[in-house]
Amino acid sequence: MSAPSDTQRMEKIVSLCKRRGFVFQSSEIYGGLNGLWDYGPLGVELKRNLKNYWWRVIVHERDDVVGMDGSILTHPAVLKASGHVEGFADLMVDCRLTNERFKADQIPFQEGTIFTYESARDAMPSDDGLLALAQLAETDQEPQINKDISMSDAVSLGLRIAQRRNLFISAPTNEPESVEQFFLDLLPELLRNPKSEWEERFRLGYSIPPRRVCGDSFRVLVRPGESDSRAKKTARLFYQKRGLRLPVLPQPSKERVSQTQEFNPENGAELTAPRPFNLMFQTQLGASSDPSSIAYLRPETAQSIFVQFKNILEVSRKKLPFGIAQIGKAFRNEINPRNFTFRSREFEQMELEYFCRPEQGMELLEYWKEERLTFYENIGIPRSKLHVLTVPDEERAFYSKGTYDIEYDFPFGRQELEGVAYRTDYDLSQHQKASGKALEYFDEETKQRFVPHVVEPSAGVDRTVLALICEAYSEDQAPDEKGKMETRVVLRFHPRLAPIKCGVFPLLKNNSQLVAKAKMIVELLRPHMTVFYDESGAIGRRYRRQDEIGTPFGLTVDFETLGEKDPALRDTVTLRDRDSMKQERVAIQDLPAILRERLA
Ligand code: ATP
Repeated sequence: MSAPSDTQRMEKIVSLCKRRGFVFQSSEIYGGLNGLWDYGPLGVELKRNLKNYWWRVIVHERDDVVGMDGSILTHPAVLKASGHVEGFADLMVDCRLTNERFKADQIPFQEGTIFTYESARDAMPSDDGLLALAQLAETDQEPQINKDISMSDAVSLGLRIAQRRNLFISAPTNEPESVEQFFLDLLPELLRNPKSEWEERFRLGYSIPPRRVCGDSFRVLVRPGESDSRAKKTARLFYQKRGLRLPVLPQPSKERVSQTQEFNPENGAELTAPRPFNLMFQTQLGASSDPSSIAYLRPETAQSIFVQFKNILEVSRKKLPFGIAQIGKAFRNEINPRNFTFRSREFEQMELEYFCRPEQGMELLEYWKEERLTFYENIGIPRSKLHVLTVPDEERAFYSKGTYDIEYDFPFGRQELEGVAYRTDYDLSQHQKASGKALEYFDEETKQRFVPHVVEPSAGVDRTVLALICEAYSEDQAPDEKGKMETRVVLRFHPRLAPIKCGVFPLLKNNSQLVAKAKMIVELLRPHMTVFYDESGAIGRRYRRQDEIGTPFGLTVDFETLGEKDPALRDTVTLRDRDSMKQERVAIQDLPAILRERLA
């Protein structure tokens, strides 16, 4: 079972991210671009710390992995061979009323009654009919027939004619059917006693056509508990969007359904049939715009690793099993970017392709799943919030012999952080076939030549950053300046990931000795970690500001530091811990070593 979603918590997190400079919407001052985000001063530090730690664990601390950094723009042949040009598509559906686009598999199953309308006609007279009405009404003004003429204008003209000719026709309601009936009642009365050519011209102008008709059929789902009138309202909006000003609907046919995904869950309107939508962004290389200049923005970093496999094998002289790692941008034209940065159109991946012999594949899949779980625990995401989903056979890529999704309990539900997949020799074999270049491995001992298999742990930087922020966000009670308890917002980042490691505060900003000492400490620590100097406001407020951005340590330079009360305390400072709020007295000279140890 997945965890319940917590909208309020998520709203607080998004607002904190913006307020304190973790994440902003891209191009915000121009109204923003959907699915694209910019990281602010703190966000970029957090992201960098995550990538550096991944690189350290995956590349630097191992003998069997080397790194690379491939180009983002990718040769179409690469993505043809990998299957992305043909197959990297989501099935999408559009709402026929609002044109909103959804991923087909995200539409929930619904039940209710389907109302089917085959067509609709306009109750408003045609322009010619309106002109005739205006003439027959004998108003003083020259009739102005334009697209702004409203239903009530047209009805007023009809009522004026009825009044002038003493016809007993009652005024219609606002309903299109009633308006149509009003004109249909007026018509024979006018024709019975014509005074000019305009009576006949009105008849012609109220015929179908030129009165408008829309022959598109349209279906609406009315769910249990909803009123049937909703179907009519929705259908009217649909036909209005297709140019009818006052749509008169024929009797709909009705059908009960218990399981359908063919309707927009928000408004009950019919969805289009699912069609594939390729998620890759395409661009042109160079000045010419012929098909040979097409390039793609890579949808994953993995392909450049496969394409460079031979080169890297040769230069690194690694023996199987060994891996190639890469961190970089990937782009997908997601149909519904959502849940803040979780599903973006531009994002970063941290991918490792770990090449091996065929017989090692399944074992290494287990090994990498465990390694990756340990990684998340080491950056502060507890095992209890991580879940391993074994991707079932029918959902796995056809070439994969086993895939795990590592999921995290986000406030908006349980969602994938990383995929760990045993991709067999599919990718290298595809590129070998398509390029005609051998991508084989020669085993010196057995003298065998074969295409290696690969296990791929593929993690999202942005999703992990979001998980880190969600996990770190907490509220507790802490005393304010006067000892009164107040709510404290704290980001409890693992110190290793925190954007700023240490805040440095002189107790008073107008005491030059305190300020000079504090600035000296900043210089002492700066080569080792990110430090933030803050002299403004009461000390408690300065702590709070750092708590809110997750700074694990705070140093206060006070009069003890100057040795004013007790010479033994000269050149010591208070070191405050963000989580416990406990303070200890530490010698300035020991600070780099103490803090570095706690940050390792
Ligand atoms: P999803 O099913 O959520 O679309 P996926 O299974 O298509 O993801 P992969 O192709 O396995 O994702 O990509 C590996 C990782 O890249 C994902 O686990 C995720 O962390 C990250 N990722 C993929 N798509 C996005 C995206 N649109 N925005 C942010 N991160 C993404």
